[in-house]
Amino acid sequence: MSNAVPAPAHSLDAVVIGAGFAGLYMLHRLRGLGLSARVLEAGDGVGGTWYWNCYPGARCDVESMQYSYSFDEDLQQEWTWSERYPSQPEILRYINHVADRFDLRRDIQLQTRVQSAVYDEARRLWTVSTEQGERLEARFVISAVGCLSAARVPQMPGLETFSGRWYHTGNWPHEAVDFSGLRVGVIGTGSSGIQTIPAIARQAAQLTVFQRSPNFSIPAWNGPLSAEAQQAWKAEYRQHREKARTTRSGILYEYSTRSALSVSEDERQAEYERRWARGGANFTHAFNDLFFDARANETAAEFVRNKIRGIVRDPAVAALLTPTDHPIGTKRICVDTDYYATYNLPHVKLVSLRQDPIREIVPQGIRTECATHELDAIVFATGYDAVTGALERIDIRGEGGRSLAREWARGPRTYLGLMGAGFPNLFTITGPISPSVFTNVVVSIEQHVDWIADCLKHMQDKGWRHIATDEAAVEGWMAHAQDIASKTLFGQANSWYLGANVPGKPRVLLPYIGGLGNYTAICDEVAADGYRGFQFA
Ligand code: NAP
Repeated sequence: MSNAVPAPAHSLDAVVIGAGFAGLYMLHRLRGLGLSARVLEAGDGVGGTWYWNCYPGARCDVESMQYSYSFDEDLQQEWTWSERYPSQPEILRYINHVADRFDLRRDIQLQTRVQSAVYDEARRLWTVSTEQGERLEARFVISAVGCLSAARVPQMPGLETFSGRWYHTGNWPHEAVDFSGLRVGVIGTGSSGIQTIPAIARQAAQLTVFQRSPNFSIPAWNGPLSAEAQQAWKAEYRQHREKARTTRSGILYEYSTRSALSVSEDERQAEYERRWARGGANFTHAFNDLFFDARANETAAEFVRNKIRGIVRDPAVAALLTPTDHPIGTKRICVDTDYYATYNLPHVKLVSLRQDPIREIVPQGIRTECATHELDAIVFATGYDAVTGALERIDIRGEGGRSLAREWARGPRTYLGLMGAGFPNLFTITGPISPSVFTNVVVSIEQHVDWIADCLKHMQDKGWRHIATDEAAVEGWMAHAQDIASKTLFGQANSWYLGANVPGKPRVLLPYIGGLGNYTAICDEVAADGYRGFQFA
């Protein structure tokens, strides 16, 4: 604690934390309500996850025509995407375009990391303090911190002794990183690793991949997006968006209504082949029971295992790359370009950490139990303290000085993923126990922002200044979410969805698995029923 006299606080209606997809749209809606707001953003630019994740090969695996805002018809008609799946630079250009087009920058403060948010019950105001020493007072705090923004570099002894440079995919430098002629090590084979490994292999002299768990990945078959295909989609943009909002994931996949076990082996294989040839996460919707029935799931898992065996020439390497420890889709399905084939390249080596764990990092590279791997650079593709991490890194104090991080020590507890009991006037966009990372997150963001903005409008109309939820509402929502989760296979994987990637993190399914369409209907019904479970003053 500094003894310096605190700076006088600015007073606002709302402080929004984060200038990614969520923060920008929230600001736009707040302005529409005539509310004063400021967005505080740690980065040097807008974009959130798409600002930080500029690693080689970074790309979204929701298709371009669907991974964008729908709130403005002119915006969605005028923007042109160049590829089937948008690359990180293209998404960042799009977000910057949105910031300019809606004149958002004048209320966005960059290079400002929020340190704490403390609620004063008597004055019904939040005080938000930043690492830069600023204090702001606001009636509402709206978290737009993102679900995958608290990057995690695992504890590895000796990292500080490494003589080369090291990087984390989620915190990549904005100046060019050139791996030409270098010996590079990549730790981690989740979505980020699986995207960056083929890209780094194209540059590096030598690439060593350190894999703890193999993952299932489906080819993206990315390519240019023709003007005709784009125009055809735009002609029905509004209808496509409306339909997407009613689906489980906010994405227009082909959702099957058949069980994998209800069709013949030939039919099943043909369906998997068709979906593999089409590419992307649509694969996991080939049958309607893949997330619920272990036998059904195994048919899809085995199909992909056979594909891996068919692509990777060395059977020993193929065996190491073949996942057998979780049902397919219960860890986030990966979507790749040339991932498995990369292991056929002579300068690419796979080290299985299950057989040969990392002992320490040494100046010249990584020492495993069996060998010292000499490296010039290390890339951590080791993921995030997902969904709760970024919120818990802020010292948030609600009623009676209660700490959000402490309250959530045994797992996050929210009502609808929008608010926790004891933290009035604090909304969490894509907060824990909302559909968030199980969906096209832009669609979930718009749904949350619209719901929050409508709620604020309702409060304005009634002359209310204070909204809270209570333990009974939270308890009901948590019980409902857990009940649905227990009917799925998600509990069978050590995934970040369950917090299993962070030592000591409680095992709770962090996103809501009931589906975005159903969830939206519940939120709308809560609002229509006088905001059931919320109290106003
Ligand atoms: P991730 O899925 O959590 O993968 C992290 C990888 O690092 C895993 O292979 C993990 O192994 C490994 N790892 C973690 N700690 C380790 C340790 N101490 N030693 C060795 N290995 C370790 O993280 P991510 O790849 O960054 O992806 C996170 C999420 O971001 C994705 O699931 C997705 O939702 C999103 N994302 C999306 C895209 C896209 O749209 N294409 C791209 C990137 C990220 P274990 O499996 O054994 O834990």
